[in-house]
Amino acid sequence: MSGQTTPARQQYLDLKAQHPDALLWFRLGDFYEMFDDDARVAANALRITLTHRTFGKGQRVPMCGVPHHAYARFLARLVRQGHSVAICEQVGEVGRGIVDRQVVRVVTAGTISEPELLRAGENNYLGAVVLQGSTFALAYVDVSTGEFRVAETDAVETLLAELARLSLAECLAEGLDALPALPVGRLTIVDRSLWLQDGCRERLLGHLGARALHTAGCEGRPASIAAAGAILGYLERTNRALLNALHTLRPQRIDWMVGVDATTRAMLLGTGAGTERREGIHGLLDRTCTPIGARMLSRWIRRPICGMQPLLERQEGIAELLAHGDRRQGLRGILGRIGDLERLTTRIAQERAAPEEFLALCESLEAIPDLLLCLHGVTSALLVEALDDIDPAADIAAGVRAAVAEPGSAARIRPGYDPEIDRLATAVGEAREQLAALERAERERTGIRSLKVGFNQVVGYYIEVTNPNIAKVPADYARKQSMSNAERFVTPELLQWEAALAEAEAGLQAADNARYLALQRAVGAEAGRLLGTADALARVDVIASLAEVGELHGFVRPELEEGTGLEIVGGRHPLVERALPGGGFIPNDCRLGGEHPHLAIVTGPNMGGKSTYLRQVALIVYLTQIGSFVPAAAARIGLVDRIFARIGAHDDLAAGQSTFLLEMAETAAIARLATPHSLVLLDEIGRGTTSADGLAIALAVAEHLHEIVAARTLFATHYSELARAAEYWPGAVNLHVRAEEHEGSVVFLYRVTPGVADRSFALHVARMAGMPEPITLRAAELLANAAPVPVVRATNPPPMPDTPAVPALDAPLPARNDAVAVQDTTVEADILPPRLEPRALRRLAEVAHDADGLAAELLRLDLAATTPIEALNALFALQQWARASHGQGADGQAREQRGYQLG
Ligand code: ATP
Repeated sequence: MSGQTTPARQQYLDLKAQHPDALLWFRLGDFYEMFDDDARVAANALRITLTHRTFGKGQRVPMCGVPHHAYARFLARLVRQGHSVAICEQVGEVGRGIVDRQVVRVVTAGTISEPELLRAGENNYLGAVVLQGSTFALAYVDVSTGEFRVAETDAVETLLAELARLSLAECLAEGLDALPALPVGRLTIVDRSLWLQDGCRERLLGHLGARALHTAGCEGRPASIAAAGAILGYLERTNRALLNALHTLRPQRIDWMVGVDATTRAMLLGTGAGTERREGIHGLLDRTCTPIGARMLSRWIRRPICGMQPLLERQEGIAELLAHGDRRQGLRGILGRIGDLERLTTRIAQERAAPEEFLALCESLEAIPDLLLCLHGVTSALLVEALDDIDPAADIAAGVRAAVAEPGSAARIRPGYDPEIDRLATAVGEAREQLAALERAERERTGIRSLKVGFNQVVGYYIEVTNPNIAKVPADYARKQSMSNAERFVTPELLQWEAALAEAEAGLQAADNARYLALQRAVGAEAGRLLGTADALARVDVIASLAEVGELHGFVRPELEEGTGLEIVGGRHPLVERALPGGGFIPNDCRLGGEHPHLAIVTGPNMGGKSTYLRQVALIVYLTQIGSFVPAAAARIGLVDRIFARIGAHDDLAAGQSTFLLEMAETAAIARLATPHSLVLLDEIGRGTTSADGLAIALAVAEHLHEIVAARTLFATHYSELARAAEYWPGAVNLHVRAEEHEGSVVFLYRVTPGVADRSFALHVARMAGMPEPITLRAAELLANAAPVPVVRATNPPPMPDTPAVPALDAPLPARNDAVAVQDTTVEADILPPRLEPRALRRLAEVAHDADGLAAELLRLDLAATTPIEALNALFALQQWARASHGQGADGQAREQRGYQLG
């Protein structure tokens, strides 16, 4: 860059130096312009033209700009792409010299407040995370709704789960060294000064107008103070006006949330990649009538809880509105008249509301008396409390109605509200009339019928006379501007009325602005009242929505209990059910924990409905713990502390994790974190590796869950060996989804029944999927030629000469239509349970208390044909049943059963 820096360029450079991390939007007339690197970045991000501008002599810099009137969509695109934007406005009088400019706000992902940039049914959170000692604090705020909360936990998993639930648009941190990888939209590192304890405390006390921080849940909690204080500090820096909408800081309990990781939640709620929100559970449950209700429902859905009392309260509310359909429909009709009371209130508190927003506020408030009438006589605690909390704020509604003009009026304040404004409006009207009258009078005086009084920005008011009539122009006309076909003039009278009009308009504008600002401030001061009412209305809306869904989809109220039982009769998966035409869905029962086995091994053919069954059980528990009714004929749910689900293969190649690695990592987390109060769903563990390794891992995981964790577990698998192992475990049961072969094709019955599935029908499914026929025929051929093989045991000496080894990958496959050349298609490690048929076990059980029978059974064993391991297994089975018949406890039994591992 060469040459001298002009004052405008210097002003830009000074402002840019204060905001090095943001794209600086520099207001020049009707555009926000960007220069230098900002221009290059923005032109690329917004796909707009990059031009150049010359400042002074020889300073040509890259430039691009966006029009002021359409700034919002450009802003949205930049922020969505992770940029921050510092908006610089002209704040001084435009006149001679350089106009004053200031950065009035910095817009980041977490500080957006424009309604058009936000989704109505979703919150947009800015958070701050602090680690002090072993305590994590998380504060978060939605500047568009005024919600401001803080939470603490010592468990990193709890923090991460809460972050996943909130899905923060932006999160502040002091540095990354001590923190885990945070699952947030944008991470903003802010300097140390923002986190200092004294400053944060002072900021909080000052902002909340409090002497102590007990009600905010921060007193004596330095981490919470730092997190919440940093948020206030950040808002002060970026957009001070946003602070006006934050009235209260509330503690958020995160320890009583059901632990559900992001993958499990996405799977259960059907919100995976490529799925529209309305297609998932969210769409199914959302029959809310207001944006405030939609956002609250969204929070409830993301936040299943373990607290019996609040769940019972939600259930009772739903039951009441389900039983009183007329009341429910009445409420929903009235709620439909209520707009986004939260965002309207915060816009007013931030002094950014348009008259239309004031009027929308009025319409919302004016619906409240009808709503209160409709709620009159409710009995459930939640609705009674909401009724108490709803403030119709009739004074505010009446005040706003009286003050705000109808849309399209010249002024924002209604005529008749303020005498001074009325006087100025009259003066404006008079001056305009005089100017109009002047046109008539001058036409008469000059005899020029085409004479016009007009106005433009450059010359102001003028009298225009076309060239053929110039000769008739009187002497008191002063020439102002020449056009190609006309001349423009002014007269003393015209100048007088023009001045009068300008003065009256300026006065009117100033008075209107002042009154309107006063109104924003007066209503903004009542924001706490309005937001409290909005919260209560949202509760009513959510309860009515869940009742409506309950009726529409035939949901029932689940019984809640503290124990570890789970009983579902006629459970359904509402999304699969919705996708199947005309009642095609087959409901299924589930009994786990309590007096029933806590582990169920679920086998069945491909496409048989195993995953659906697992998902529906988890979903019914999940829905129960958000307070909703559930898709079943009846349900009794022992509340769970965590839900773990590993269903369906996925990978995270971007993070360098293979499918198998991810599966193992997720399974490891389950093994470490699940408790006897958890619900665990595993679909196909260990498929991504060799059969032997996979089976060994699956078996060890199932055994661990059965014996050590004792969580309620559904384990779907195609390993029949796993199902056989489960026959030995006292706390396990085998279930299978039924399918039958009928005239060469498979008929899926989708009925979950006790027992083990004997076939996978994989070839049928391959055919259904469009696999070319030569391949399926060949696979059938290979399958037909495969025969059961002797077990290959890893700890045994090298295989016996007559026992074929596991075929190497490059070993020849059986020739087409040949006799079987390689027999081994099944590989079993030596950790497998003894291959004793249940019938043999029953026989041994029958004889275990009868010495003669026992002797006879022992004699029947052909020791010459029995391998040492089979002998040991037989002995083990005998001992097991002997223990059972002599009343030894399950613990001892379970420990002993592990004996087979020693093979
Ligand atoms: P795989 O072992 O191949 O993964 P799966 O046994 O897990 O299969 P699902 O994915 O649960 O099978 O179900 C396959 C399809 O069967 C579903 O998409 C649905 O259309 C249908 N289905 C599942 N359960 C039921 C049910 N209870 N009633 C009716 N149809 C069902």
